[in-house]
Amino acid sequence: EPELSGDFATLMGWADAVRRLKVRANAETALDAQTARQFGAEGIGLCRTEHMFFDPARIAAVREMILADDEAGRRGALEKILPMQRQDFVELFKIMEGLPVTIRLLDPPLHEFLPHSEEDVASVAEATGLDPKKLLRRAQELHEVNPMLGHRGCRLGVAYPEIYEMQVRAIVEAACEVVAEGRPAPIPEIMHPLVAKGEEMKFLRDLTDRTAKKVIEEKGCQIDYKVGTMIELPRAAIRAADLAENAEFFSFGTNDLTQTTFGISRDDSGRFLGYYIDKGIFEKDPFVSLDTEGVGDLIRIAAERGRAARPDVKLGICGEHGGDPASIQFCETIGLDYVSCSPYRVPIARLAAAQAAIGEREKDR
Ligand code: PEP
Ligand code: MG
Repeated sequence: EPELSGDFATLMGWADAVRRLKVRANAETALDAQTARQFGAEGIGLCRTEHMFFDPARIAAVREMILADDEAGRRGALEKILPMQRQDFVELFKIMEGLPVTIRLLDPPLHEFLPHSEEDVASVAEATGLDPKKLLRRAQELHEVNPMLGHRGCRLGVAYPEIYEMQVRAIVEAACEVVAEGRPAPIPEIMHPLVAKGEEMKFLRDLTDRTAKKVIEEKGCQIDYKVGTMIELPRAAIRAADLAENAEFFSFGTNDLTQTTFGISRDDSGRFLGYYIDKGIFEKDPFVSLDTEGVGDLIRIAAERGRAARPDVKLGICGEHGGDPASIQFCETIGLDYVSCSPYRVPIARLAAAQAAIGEREKDR
């Protein structure tokens, strides 16, 4: 059971007294969220909702949704997922007791939820009663040559708005339920992934507000929520002012932003990056320690342009870099509001944020 106590807790207290950056955690399970709080996280900066769909109890309904031929069929399957998804958020909101919880809507290409080999198809078909031929055909139809640049992120929400509507409904219903129990009111931050264009953000914002409004009216509850975007594409960073028109916060998804800025696959960089590091072309793995030059410039541009359009836009980082001390230093320098990292990195991030704040003060002397 992780818990900070004794000298470690004292040290953390000192760090907290000097740091400016807030520290949140990336968490999607109750266990992660509890661990995060024990380590002092001040909110959830990234809840990746796709992980919630792989649970054996619900993957069948997810697959049914993907297999559906039309919107009505998808909506039918989504009805089954809704109560489970609502419960996910109720649990997280209760653990977080009114701290901010950023929930990212579905991100991965749908084929990731389908079995591909004939063997897997057979066992899935048996377990779920779904038609094996249909499963295989759909998996083939959904196959993509470049899935990371393909039908993923908010493109799913544009093509199939009913998926994001279900998720927004689950978030707002969960918040209403928690408030009805007399607990601290959650402030959900609904986050859209892989947004590139202002028009895309507008579509997503309208979808989110429309759905949330409907739920709030139905339940007669009072819920504050925020709508925002990840910044994971160079275009999003460059056109941040367009996004800020309909986004109250930005969270830098530096895993994807590093991938898309360098054009280096985050999944395959291991094949060649070592040679670059050996030859001194790269000092460090840019997927671990932020490239403060190129990727950093894009973050700086996005922060400046976002703030010019919306002075109170909240800025955070939720890629792996959010738990890396050198990257946290950069986040302090450009004045982000928070970093978000894996729960076990929260203490390191608190220390690094303090060190960065002290460094900034020294500069001002
Ligand atoms: C990112 O891209 O940095 C991010 C946090 O999202 P994911 O790692 O889930 O793509
Ligand atoms: Mg990403």
